Amino acid sequence: MRMRHVWIGAAFAAAGACAEPETNQMQALAERYVKLVLAVGQHDTDYVDAFYGPPEWRTAAVKRPLAEIDAEAAAVAGQLTAVVQESADPLVVLRHRYLTRQVEALRTRVAMLGGKRLTFDEESRALYDAVAAHHDAAEFEGVLAQLEQVLPGPGALLDRYTRFRNAFVIPPARLDATFKAAIDACRRRTLQHVDLPPGESFTVEYVTDKSWSGYNWYQGQYRSLIQVNTDLPIFADRAVDLACHEGYPGHHVYNVLLEKTLVRDRGWPEFQVYPLFSPQSLIAEGTANFGIEVAFPPADRLKLEREVIFPAAGLDPTGVGHYYTVMGLVDRLSYAGNEAARRYIDGEIDAAGATAWLERYGLYSGARATQRVRFVDQYRSYVINYNLGKDMVARYVDARAGGDTSKRWAAFTELLSSPRLPSGLAVGGK
Ligand SMILES: [Zn+2]
Repeated sequence: MRMRHVWIGAAFAAAGACAEPETNQMQALAERYVKLVLAVGQHDTDYVDAFYGPPEWRTAAVKRPLAEIDAEAAAVAGQLTAVVQESADPLVVLRHRYLTRQVEALRTRVAMLGGKRLTFDEESRALYDAVAAHHDAAEFEGVLAQLEQVLPGPGALLDRYTRFRNAFVIPPARLDATFKAAIDACRRRTLQHVDLPPGESFTVEYVTDKSWSGYNWYQGQYRSLIQVNTDLPIFADRAVDLACHEGYPGHHVYNVLLEKTLVRDRGWPEFQVYPLFSPQSLIAEGTANFGIEVAFPPADRLKLEREVIFPAAGLDPTGVGHYYTVMGLVDRLSYAGNEAARRYIDGEIDAAGATAWLERYGLYSGARATQRVRFVDQYRSYVINYNLGKDMVARYVDARAGGDTSKRWAAFTELLSSPRLPSGLAVGGK
């Protein structure tokens, strides 16, 4: 611990000693931003997702009033506009734009903590720099009709789907071994294409009573703590999804690359903190979800499930193909989850209405719909970061790499290593 802070301090001093005045100004503003994020964290326990900077930057025991935090954030924003924004180095340009937008999002979160009410779309634009398209129920009806075809039989579709999926639950006694097999496969695949610094690693814990199914808590020093929630049975497909999303090439790799390229190589202090309710989360969740397909395109995924994951879970691998046909269709219902959240946050439906919508159009079982509504209570419009984030990242990578495997990994890794905003993912975006 001690060595790390001495080392980072030295990196900042070196950056300052030979830097232009604009660089020194950016360093100072970035440090103030980190301290502001930590100050907001004293009002909002979900806000600081990761912080591995100097411990003395953590604010004192006394909370700073929200109005005072906002006034300083406004001052930082004002001073940022005065810093020269042009540079031959594209990362420097991205950095300025990114920090400016992160400060704006911080001010929105402060306003919300002070009681400001925003609609779902206003909130997602302000916090995550993106708005999800609206969908009619009719759009989901078409997918449900296809599911009726692939899951024939008596009774309601949700009951048939629930019964079908329950045959693919990983037995609790095999969960850890199955998850480890998935992590091992995801890590090996990622290391074929991404240079990771020596010493990167993570630990896995199994937890209960959470609104999420998995969480990566980045600790710095290239280490993560990954928690897997075992409140509800875990299905076979979740092993690779979680291992890629939370680990390789998802959140763990994203945080490791930010620490390596931006904190250690560049000495940029703002990347030692990760405020959850900010544009960074769309990039984080979008890359973590799209990373599953980057690592394992459909044919590779089926092979991995058939040869490694299903056997580890003690499940009959002959059902793999049909299972993924069904799950591919169910995945197309993911935007139904956004609709439920939007209507619920906007007050058009209550919690029972949101649960019913999730069951009807998203094929959530009762227990999973209840868990999802709890998630929306806690994280609100954050839900768009998973599916809209994934789609935006997919378009970004596809536009640069098409179907070429090594180009896809290169574009994906470049995105994981740079401070790009969601609005900068669009073709021609900045
Ligand atoms: Zn995630």
